[in-house]
Amino acid sequence: MELKEIYQTANNYLTKNPKISFEVFPPKDGNFSNLFEQVRYLKKYNPALISLTYGAGGSTRDLSLEILRSFLDLELNVMPHLTCVGTTKELIEHYLIQIENLGIENILALRGDILEGNKIFDFRHANELVEFIYQKTTLSIGVAGYPEGHIESPTMEQDIENLKRKVDAGASAIFTQLFFNNDKFYKYVETVRNAGINLPIIPGIMPVRNVKQLEKMTSLARVDIPKNFSESLEKFPNDVKKIGTEFAIHQCQDLIDNNVYGLHFFTLNNAEQISDILDNILF
Ligand code: FAD
Repeated sequence: MELKEIYQTANNYLTKNPKISFEVFPPKDGNFSNLFEQVRYLKKYNPALISLTYGAGGSTRDLSLEILRSFLDLELNVMPHLTCVGTTKELIEHYLIQIENLGIENILALRGDILEGNKIFDFRHANELVEFIYQKTTLSIGVAGYPEGHIESPTMEQDIENLKRKVDAGASAIFTQLFFNNDKFYKYVETVRNAGINLPIIPGIMPVRNVKQLEKMTSLARVDIPKNFSESLEKFPNDVKKIGTEFAIHQCQDLIDNNVYGLHFFTLNNAEQISDILDNILF
């Protein structure tokens, strides 16, 4: 099912019907039997989408195709990610053909992080990739949004202008970076709407499981951590997972009560904590 169709029925301010989706990543050791089990377990939550991250420069391309095929065998709707730095138009076109040949209908189009040695070839920004996919395929295209602004963007205004380029190039939905302060998300939605963008905006949720993982994520993105949350994590280092789970339950409940289109969980390939959260939210 295409993104447009999924989120069309999600929310009309009269009936709440938020769509749940899960992001997973190809395991580094190439052995995806554990990932397969985690996803099979999460299937009970009737996810609208399973999204699969994409390694810089296409490092995980072949494994990704194998994983996507196994998710399709489970009758799951999938959304592979695709990044465009460090690769060429030809390689991207080849991958797109393979994806369409599998019968996949959606893709999340990203620039990717500019790492050392990760040269820019044919595409400089995600809007160029979106335009290319829109021209070459019939895939429904998701793009990234940043409730606190992208880390390289000097102002939120510029970031929203750049988001608009992706929308004008053919995007159908916006999936956000993780955040912990819902007010920042609500303000972002308002700013995006004021800029004339009416696409579904799906909040990205990353439950905290350990402090190292939190530090890594927040070093890559602008993320405000509410004071009471960071204080609790600091004060009770042995209960980080429990505190992270409780925080995520409240965060998700508040988002649902505020009529979000869906919840997109960054699962880190761990179904247990996600399950603890979903079992405690009232839809
Ligand atoms: P862009 O939209 O190109 O934006 C990047 C920066 O350039 C922004 O500051 C923007 O304001 C600016 N900009 C954009 N267009 C222009 C323009 N035309 N002129 C000037 N400035 C411009 N990374 C991976 O490697 N693999 C993944 O699978 C992956 N999945 C992700 C999933 C989600 C939901 C999110 C939110 C991020 C994901 N990322 C992933 C990270 C992403 O690649 C980085 O955040 C990257 O730095 C920016 O990607 P983008 O698509 O937002 O880029």
